[in-house]
Amino acid sequence: MDIVTIDGPAGAGKSTISRMVARRLGYHRLDTGAMYRAVAWLLKEEGTSLSDTDEVARICRECHIRFDGERIFINQSDVTNLIRSPEMDMLASKVSGIPVVRERLAGMQKEIGMKGRCVAEGRDMGTVVFPDADYKFFLTATAEERARRRKKQLEIAGEIVLYEIILKQIIERDRADSSRSMSPLKPAEDAVLLDSTSFSPAEVVEFILAEIKKKRDLS
Ligand code: C5P
Repeated sequence: MDIVTIDGPAGAGKSTISRMVARRLGYHRLDTGAMYRAVAWLLKEEGTSLSDTDEVARICRECHIRFDGERIFINQSDVTNLIRSPEMDMLASKVSGIPVVRERLAGMQKEIGMKGRCVAEGRDMGTVVFPDADYKFFLTATAEERARRRKKQLEIAGEIVLYEIILKQIIERDRADSSRSMSPLKPAEDAVLLDSTSFSPAEVVEFILAEIKKKRDLS
């Protein structure tokens, strides 16, 4: 299957790395975190309580998510920028623990991935959604380094948030993502682990491309 999976915790650099790897391979990129964020945004917009499981299920079943290049739409709304706030960070993490949401989004992700030539990034790409992918990577970095990177990203987007708050949220999201019962964040057994704390994005990308080449040459 010509799918590359890149999983890892919040702020490990998955978005930057997957974008660069996809460009170099001529593949398209599937940002599954954006899909959880879009559903979180829609549930908030509709004023749905997360404990109202019937309503959450209905909205999930009926929603339509579409990517257009780097933009993401849910139903008719372009939510590309709206989903990138600290509030949506936390809400998406909560929403992603709801089984009906995971089932629906995993189904959509498989459908998109089936078209092939895809770099899929998320938390459960290598373990649950694309267990047969040939190239699997698990990207980490220390929580402190990830908080620093996230702070920079938010500043670029015009949001000033205290480093200590971001760090606390990252640790909380790690805990929630790793401890949920359905599709917890963990490396696939056959994933290559990569700690990016002291590497530049370009170095990480070169490493990933070299690993892919090595494996391709062997097969
Ligand atoms: O990667 P990103 O930070 O955009 O993801 C937002 C949230 O969506 C994460 O905190 C995680 O809880 C959830 N997520 C997930 N499974 C994925 C991708 C994201 O549970 N495949």
